[in-house]
Amino acid sequence: MSAQHEAGAATIHRVVILGAGYAGLSAAIQLASRVKQGENVRVTLVNAQERFTERLRLHMTASGQRLAELSIPELLEGTGAHFERGWVTAVDVNAKTVRIDDERVLPYDTLVYALGGVADTAAVPGVEDHAYTLNSAQDAEVLADRLSRLGRGTVVVVGSGLTGVESAAEIAERHPELNVVLLGRGEPGAAMNPKARAYVRAALGRLKVEVRSGAEVVKVLPGTVELAGGESVAADAVLWTSGTRVSPLASAAGLTVDEHGRVVTDVALRSVSHPEVYAVGDAAAIRQGYGVMHGTCQGGMPTGVHAALSILRELKGKRPKPFRFGYYHTPVSLGRHDAVVQFTHPDDSPRRLYLTGRVAVRYKETVTAAPWPTWGRMKKMPASGVFWPRGGRFTRVREA
Ligand SMILES: Cc1cc2nc3c(=O)[nH]c(=O)nc-3n(C[C@H](O)[C@H](O)[C@H](O)COP(=O)(O)OP(=O)(O)OC[C@H]3O[C@@H](n4cnc5c(N)ncnc54)[C@H](O)[C@@H]3O)c2cc1C
Repeated sequence: MSAQHEAGAATIHRVVILGAGYAGLSAAIQLASRVKQGENVRVTLVNAQERFTERLRLHMTASGQRLAELSIPELLEGTGAHFERGWVTAVDVNAKTVRIDDERVLPYDTLVYALGGVADTAAVPGVEDHAYTLNSAQDAEVLADRLSRLGRGTVVVVGSGLTGVESAAEIAERHPELNVVLLGRGEPGAAMNPKARAYVRAALGRLKVEVRSGAEVVKVLPGTVELAGGESVAADAVLWTSGTRVSPLASAAGLTVDEHGRVVTDVALRSVSHPEVYAVGDAAAIRQGYGVMHGTCQGGMPTGVHAALSILRELKGKRPKPFRFGYYHTPVSLGRHDAVVQFTHPDDSPRRLYLTGRVAVRYKETVTAAPWPTWGRMKKMPASGVFWPRGGRFTRVREA
């Protein structure tokens, strides 16, 4: 990795991090906190908003709850990292530049691509135009506004994955006057052990969420969701949580991406086509011994930290180490007063152990609230960020 020059100044290596979500912020803080004065590394973090989006809580926003104001520039204070607010519109991997809001151009020597992912609203006709999403805090607020004015209507939540389950439960609890329908192909909690799954089902029943599994949505129209087989379900509001889609920027830039558009990485988290680009979090296709990681905060934060450590190793002329991560839990909220925490094997398959009720609520809240104080600690003590489960025998991979 070669350092670049700034006109008239000492040699400076410019690291630009795109996206200040769980992965990008972990990378920025870990890297900036470890860079010593006089080391001539400049870290710039680019994000659409100054306020940190707590994605893990967007179902709370959607049901009308206010979240804490968490300022990214304030968090970065004292680390030496620069914050650039704006929307990334293009990456030029040949010129090694990033375009922001179509007007600013940022050059980089190393890029960390951490733009995350959103619900796939393109897969089914009508979703883009007639469904709400939790793709951003603003989207969740728009839904909250709609729900507050619905009266006694029906909300259809599409997608029986964990985001769908958490959203349906939260909306049903906050808006008992609404009829909430959870539609999806699979059973809610399908990846949990049978007892934990049964608990999820019972909790949704208690909250009067109507669960319809085995349902394939083929079209969303104003006021209706159409299912394969011709049946229609009336809906005053549709929340789409099904599938995931990533920004088209990586693919447009010519980075090698997988079938979902995620940047394919080597074992050190560098793009396989452009090794000066690291990819982390939901925007990356990261292979482990058990398969390609799926998007989570528990895996996303370690990818950011690892990318930072790898960049520092490369700057010192060392080879970056392979990234290894094993899952350990699936915490799912069921409104504010109930939850399930399914403990998992490193490949994300369920263990027998799970928590429910108040203990699970406390556990879930602790992990949801953890990232912000974790970054605060990392600023003072970067080594505190390097502890995560490596996955043991599940994650031993041979380097390509
Ligand atoms: C309701 C909900 C509940 C969830 N619960 C859990 C949970 O309990 N546990 C768990 O592990 N995971 C959970 N997830 C998944 C988790 O939120 C994601 O896996 C995690 O946010 C991924 O982190 P990231 O840093 O890759 O992306 P993000 O957190 O999405 O961050 C990406 C950042 O990039 C910015 N960005 C994107 N495009 C651009 C652009 N072109 N220009 C500028 N900025 C841009 C975004 O604004 C954002 O700030 C949940 C998700 C949702 C929606």
